[in-house]
Formats: sequence, structure tokens, C-alpha cells
Amino acid sequence: MLNIGLTGGIGSGKSTVAQFFKNKGAYLIDFDVLAHKVEEPGGPAWKQIVEEYGSEILNKDATINREKLGDIVFQDKKKLETLNGIVHPAVFKEWVHRMEEIKKEKKDAIVISDIPLLIEVGLQKYVDLVILVYIPPEEQIERIRTRNGFTREEAEYRLHSQMPIDEKLSFADIVINNGGPLEETRKIVEKYWPELLEREQSKRKRETEQ
Ligand code: ADP
Repeated sequence: MLNIGLTGGIGSGKSTVAQFFKNKGAYLIDFDVLAHKVEEPGGPAWKQIVEEYGSEILNKDATINREKLGDIVFQDKKKLETLNGIVHPAVFKEWVHRMEEIKKEKKDAIVISDIPLLIEVGLQKYVDLVILVYIPPEEQIERIRTRNGFTREEAEYRLHSQMPIDEKLSFADIVINNGGPLEETRKIVEKYWPELLEREQSKRKRETEQ
């Protein structure tokens, strides 16, 4: 099994690139989905979040209102750090569990974990390879404005809560430039796919030789 961390910046195209890899046969683990799962009522992070931010952030059905929570934490760095301190360990546990399940199912799986804050959180040491999906910051703002309907100010705020994408470049083993048309990005993914299969094979060979 090859364990790949896919990252980028908000709106750079991680989900898009992850889908292209899935089409080639990769298993996907989406950290946003994991985060949702641990924040569900009864999930490992739910109670702590309610204790920290109060029941005002809940919907009528006891689920967390992510918009309300987002409004609180994206305006206050300390509060965002506190939330991350609750959610990240729970997500990490869920991630490890999911990888174990995949390994049982397919020992030669290529696993692509879509991890928005991979570098900020320092998860590089848990993956075999870091793939960065890159577009210039100005284009990130345009794409999230289109996707989420944000004002320029809202888009910039969210962008600035992350490490600038240009600083992430030096952490990447592979950079996928998603600044061009989608078809071009798909071709880049197809070009890298055989290399990932080879890396998986040689990793497994090393492991069995040990
Ligand atoms: P992320 O998962 O990194 O936040 P997405 O994959 O959701 O980013 O992409 C952000 C937005 O940009 C989406 O609306 C997506 O459809 C669009 N998008 C992604 N890649 C391209 C591209 N190469 N050209 C134009 N739009 C793109």
C-alpha cells in the first residue's frame, strides 16, 4: 500500500485531482469527510466542541451548524487553534483506522488522502509521498469566490488562515499544476499514475525483504 498525502491550498483543486486519481483506481480518504464524521452527534469530537463553543452552534437536530462554527473560528486565530486541537486528534485516529481497513482489503492499494492542512499540521511524516496541487493565490481567490459565492474579503480571509501555497512548494515530492484547463490536469495525473504504482511495488518489496 502506498500512502499519499494530497494537499494544496483552499480552492487549488485537491478534490478535483483526487477524483482523477480515483478514476485511475486509487482509494480516497477525504479529511473533510472524516472531520464531519467525528463531529456528528455522538462522534468523538462533538461533545468537546459543544462544551467549548456552547449549544448556540447546534442545529435543532443536535448536529453542529458548521456555518455558525465557521463564523466564530475564522475570525479568531485562538479559537481556530482550539477547535483544531479537538478535531485533529479524533480525525487522525479515524484516518489510521480507515487505512488499516483498506490495507486488509487490498494490500497493493494506492491511497490518496485529501488533507487540506497536511503541512500546517505536520502530517508529512505519516505519508510516503506528498502531492501538492498548485494554482497561484490570485486564482485560488477567484475559484473559491465562484465555488462558494464568497465576497473577495471572505475569500481572502479564508486564504490567509492557511500557509501560503508558495511556501508549501518546498514540502512537496510531486507538484501538480492545476492552473490550466481540467483536461490538462487529468493528463498530468495520468502521467504520474504508473510512477505511483512503481513506488508502491518497490515499497512492498522493501517491506517483505526486511
Ligand atoms: P479544493 O478541494 O482544493 O478546495 P476544488 O477541487 O473544490 O478545490 O476546486 C475549487 C474550485 O475550482 C471548484 O469549483 C472546481 O470545480 C474548480 N476547478 C478545479 N480545477 C479547475 C481547473 N483546472 N479549471 C477551472 N476550475 C477548476
